[in-house]
Amino acid sequence: MTATILDGKALAHQIQAELTEVVADFIENNGVVPCLAAVLVGEDPASEVYVRNKRRACERLGIESQLHRLPATTTQDELLALVKRLNKSIDVHGILVQLPLPEGLDAARVQSAVLPLKDVDCLNPENVGLLVQGRPRFLPCTPHGVVQILQRSGVPIAGQHVVIIGRSDIVGKPLANMLVQKGAGGDATVTLSHSRSRDLPAIARTADILVAAVGRPKLVTADMVKPGAVVIDVGINRTAEGLVGDVDFAAVREVASMITPVPGGVGPLTITMLLHNTLAAARGLQ
Ligand code: NDP
Repeated sequence: MTATILDGKALAHQIQAELTEVVADFIENNGVVPCLAAVLVGEDPASEVYVRNKRRACERLGIESQLHRLPATTTQDELLALVKRLNKSIDVHGILVQLPLPEGLDAARVQSAVLPLKDVDCLNPENVGLLVQGRPRFLPCTPHGVVQILQRSGVPIAGQHVVIIGRSDIVGKPLANMLVQKGAGGDATVTLSHSRSRDLPAIARTADILVAAVGRPKLVTADMVKPGAVVIDVGINRTAEGLVGDVDFAAVREVASMITPVPGGVGPLTITMLLHNTLAAARGLQ
């Protein structure tokens, strides 16, 4: 079997086209242009690229964006003061603090300081709590992107066994929380695995849907995939051969029924769901 490639780029295009119309309607009806403020501390090259791509996508959709650049020497208090200012600004609807932060800055404290109504990354504890309780204010961008890929590709989720590899606060844990909720996009049986999981290959082989969010090239090999499973590769690894995911794509493609490529899989959806949340934040603040 050669797997169908789930084209995240094309799906993102489609969702962004839908959003462009909704943004235009929103602006016409409210006289307000949704605005995303990105905060970039230090000079991490990957973060520079992510922030630039997010701003370009905003532009394409008619969403305004601000970039607040701070030097790597910024103190915790200075960063919190900026967040406070953005919380109060009536022109700003969504706030994104690009991670990772330089050493010495406490990301959890910064995320807790972002006004929950503007927390488009869904990392403030209040929003995480709402998500866990099944009444989300915002859906976290990368997990939401994964669910969109599955739903829009016609992959059944209800009743399926989803194995997620990776338990981070931005991907694995919130994705598990979304997939176990009752209703559309949920009702899955979820196993959340990590570096301490015993016999990961055996666990992975039980998956109808296997999601890799680790950050290790070729961690998922063909023998870890049940024939016909759907494989979603969240990983982004910079290697000598360019950007690759966590999945041994060429080999796994011969076993899976559907697979996301890297690049061009989950990444474009993550940005798209951020724009979706910025519009939702602007709506919530009217
Ligand atoms: P983290 O480093 O925060 O988490 C990695 C997780 O993988 C941890 O839970 C860790 O386990 C687990 N892990 C590490 N090694 C192994 C192993 N050998 N076997 C099983 N589990 C292992 O990463 P993130 O969640 O932030 O990101 C994961 C990947 O996804 C990265 O490549 C990142 O670049 C990418 N990413 C892509 C996005 C996109 O839009 N496509 C968005 C966000 C991230 P433990 O907890 O035990 O340490």
